[in-house]
Amino acid sequence: MRPLRVGRATRDAAVLVFIGVFLFAAAWWLELYEKLAAFIDSHEFMQADELFIALLIVGILGFAFGYRRLHDLKVEVAHRRRAERDVSWIAAHDPLTRLPNRIGLKQQVDRLREDGKTGKPHMAMVIDIQGFKHINDLQGNEIGDEILAVIADRLRDIFIGCYLFRLGGDQFYAAQESSITKDWEKLARRAIKKVAEPIEINGRSYEVSAYVGMARYPDDAANIKYLLRCALSAASAAKREHSNEMKWFDTAVDEATARYAELDKQLRAALKAGEVRPYYQPMIDLTSGRIIGFEALARWRRPDGSFVSPAEFIPLAEETGMIGELSNVLFTQACQDAAKWPRGVRLSFNVSPTQFSNRSFGRQMLDTLATTGLSPNQLEVEITESMFVKDVQLVAVLLDELREAGVHIAIDDFGTGYSSLSQLSRLRFDKLKIDRSFVSSFLDDARQAMIIRAMIGLGRGLGMKTIAEGIEEASQAETLKLLGCHQGQGFLFSRAVPAEQATSLLQMTWPTRSEDTTATN
Ligand code: C2E
Ligand code: MG
Ligand code: MG
Repeated sequence: MRPLRVGRATRDAAVLVFIGVFLFAAAWWLELYEKLAAFIDSHEFMQADELFIALLIVGILGFAFGYRRLHDLKVEVAHRRRAERDVSWIAAHDPLTRLPNRIGLKQQVDRLREDGKTGKPHMAMVIDIQGFKHINDLQGNEIGDEILAVIADRLRDIFIGCYLFRLGGDQFYAAQESSITKDWEKLARRAIKKVAEPIEINGRSYEVSAYVGMARYPDDAANIKYLLRCALSAASAAKREHSNEMKWFDTAVDEATARYAELDKQLRAALKAGEVRPYYQPMIDLTSGRIIGFEALARWRRPDGSFVSPAEFIPLAEETGMIGELSNVLFTQACQDAAKWPRGVRLSFNVSPTQFSNRSFGRQMLDTLATTGLSPNQLEVEITESMFVKDVQLVAVLLDELREAGVHIAIDDFGTGYSSLSQLSRLRFDKLKIDRSFVSSFLDDARQAMIIRAMIGLGRGLGMKTIAEGIEEASQAETLKLLGCHQGQGFLFSRAVPAEQATSLLQMTWPTRSEDTTATN
């Protein structure tokens, strides 16, 4: 915005007044008035006196007009200055929490530089709110906004005398000119504790938590500007490791963050290039030894032939929000492959907890079934227990939608979560998948064996099928069968294989007694 010339207007007025006084004095000194009076008297017929009075009146009115315009101009300038201040405040602040935003942070760094304070030791901390996105997706933006406002107020109470910013989304940033790490750690612990306190809105209680990453200048960052990047990297590490404690920046961790970002970029490209495809691991009926279905497992095969483990890229896709797109691609392909299998052979597909944030998720799955021609009865959806930690009601609605259409629901990695039993009494599942951590050791460990026995009993009691994952030895398969486990899956039978090989496996029958060791065609 161009600055208004109010200073020049005042200067002009002053010069004009000066010229006026000078002309008046000169006229007086030259006795111009007497000469003018004589002229008017001698030229009465020309009406010069009236003309002179009219000119005087015009002059006075002109002066009054000029004065008023000058006043208006001053008011307008004040107005525009205020508006300019408001606009720059709005640009530098987040309207919801009224905290400075990234622009505010940049301005703050500029101010520190101008004041020559960028060389002083500083502490910084990124507070990443965990669970917020989930609530925001499920409960709507209004509730999400209120939660953020409450968190901002709590942080404001903690970071008194510090700079506090909202970086956008669910991330906050605090900084202080200080070199005392102990005090900063104390503040971080208070922030983690305060953020985790329940938030009451309209009679409902919401809970979120915080991952905190910290960095210091000059120890970690080369300059003050770089401090934010270091704290962000530490917060990402805390998030990756699900650490409830704050984490200090660490160069090795920073390299891991860079690798993670690189992997994210590569995964996006791989998805476009069709490098990520479903492979199929057979699920075997332990009594007949025949395949009753296949679990689709994501496989990312790089052009050089190497594989990236889904244990690496699925959590990454969940975190970056790419899981929806990835899952769509895999699910469509898996349905197309499964549509070629005999009708009794089921496709089992893993669904990530984060996908349940998308309310139309069930509908989308059913649409894909319809377009690929796979019957809903042929589909089984595998969900893990962690799905129920947050909003059981909504998950129940989405699962019901799928169940009503005929889709089977299996609870995966059973026994490794912490909400299973309470959820089993509230939600209906068709199958319980016993996690491979129990299967790998139950033959040598009496306590694990008791747990497996209890799980199979629980499944039977609730009318569910049971399947044991990770069977690697024939003795495991045989004992599980004797204990009443219906199905098995594991390297003993087959690893996950590409679609073409899966079809040829369909002809096979596996022995489920330890003395028989070879599969037959
Ligand atoms: P999961 O659903 O529990 O899948 C079973 C995992 O156990 C697979 O690992 C499988 O290869 C492995 N496995 C099967 N039999 C044996 C065995 O006998 N011994 C041993 N040691 N391992 C066995 P994978 O393919 O690495 O997948 C890991 C996890 O990644 C899966 O665990 C699942 O949670 C996730 N995942 C894989 N594909 C997808 C997908 O398409 N979508 C989603 N959301 N998650 C997926
Ligand atoms: Mg699974
Ligand atoms: Mg599993």
